[in-house]
Amino acid sequence: MTFNKDADERLFHAPDDTQAALDYGVDLDSPEAGPKPVISLRRRGSSLASAAEQLRTLGTLDLVDAQGRPANFEQHIADIGMARGLRPAPLEIFQINVGKLCNMTCKHCHVDAGPDRVEAMMTRATAEACLAALDQTDCRTVDITGGAPELNPNFRFLVEESIKRGKHVIDRCNLTILLVPKFADLPEWLAERGVEVVCSLPHYRQRNTDAQRGDGAYEKSIQALRRLNEAGYGQGDPNKILTLMTNPAGAFLAGSQASMEREWKAALERDHGARFDRLIALNNMPISRFLEWLQNSGNLVSYMNRLLDGFNPATVPGVMCRNTVSVGWDGRVYDCDFNQMLDMEIAVEGSSSEGAMTVFEFSPEKFAARRIRTARHCYGCTAGAGSSCGGATA
Ligand code: SF4
Ligand code: SF4
Repeated sequence: MTFNKDADERLFHAPDDTQAALDYGVDLDSPEAGPKPVISLRRRGSSLASAAEQLRTLGTLDLVDAQGRPANFEQHIADIGMARGLRPAPLEIFQINVGKLCNMTCKHCHVDAGPDRVEAMMTRATAEACLAALDQTDCRTVDITGGAPELNPNFRFLVEESIKRGKHVIDRCNLTILLVPKFADLPEWLAERGVEVVCSLPHYRQRNTDAQRGDGAYEKSIQALRRLNEAGYGQGDPNKILTLMTNPAGAFLAGSQASMEREWKAALERDHGARFDRLIALNNMPISRFLEWLQNSGNLVSYMNRLLDGFNPATVPGVMCRNTVSVGWDGRVYDCDFNQMLDMEIAVEGSSSEGAMTVFEFSPEKFAARRIRTARHCYGCTAGAGSSCGGATA
């Protein structure tokens, strides 16, 4: 597809003030800002930095379904009576991925985020276009993600403007970012505005967390949790919800959310006096750095078979691509954050072109008529209890 010229300029040319705003009081590349157990695929020049290569890798694996056919997600969906594939549902969530810049480089990251990703940063013009698009929808929730979304100079602007519009706002926070000097005030700032913080923490045990996020990640995360608790988060107040988000530390599916939540609450309170409101559990998606880890550790085929064998039809109605708009840092619109990372832009029914929309020309009618694009990575959303940005779906 082609973009119009004006939109192209707003999409790809950051305003001059963006770079000036990248002063965080610490060098993001330093260990002080956050642990970095790996280097981003992009920085290493890995072939898996390419979305096309990731899709090719998954697509050419020798995987067969229970009927002996080559594994095909669309076929699986058709087999459960959805011959036309996943169908869009009424929109509920407007998810904005403001960029790939992060103070950490976790091994399992599906974004390939890191301190080097300064090129992938949403501009003010694109943030404003997101709000204009949001105003055309009935979405009740604005979900701001990244990278570490707080690092984008437009993060507070997006939060304020969304709150003004009466939206429930989610900050997908990696916890350690709250210890970066520039964000010392953020727990109270977010609490005053009733923002829900959804904080990723691989495990309540140090060993499991540091294995994914690097040495020192756990200790910093606990310090940040305490800061959020001091600001009133995690105490049962519906205006200060602290959700923890966990994902498995290896090539297996997420466990039961409900039983893990009880265990986590008891352990964090006992060991650190730290509290949170709820726990959500996600499967790791076989893309980006987790895909590389699966390949290098010899787990790729067995993990994909685990996802395939774990296909659970009850999870399908709740997959997030049905009720979510996902906007990338450059303004392109996707079915979900995973399709975004794989450069699978939306496909509008009846259109011969794919990648048919940016926020600058967002149309709710066209978006509602999209064909949701799927591929083998989608088995990550439908295995076991299911997996979405809101946790289990079945
Ligand atoms: S998983 Fe989250 S915290 Fe870790 S590198 Fe990726 S975006 Fe950053
Ligand atoms: S990866 Fe995206 S498109 Fe595929 S099932 Fe999950 S939410 Fe839907």
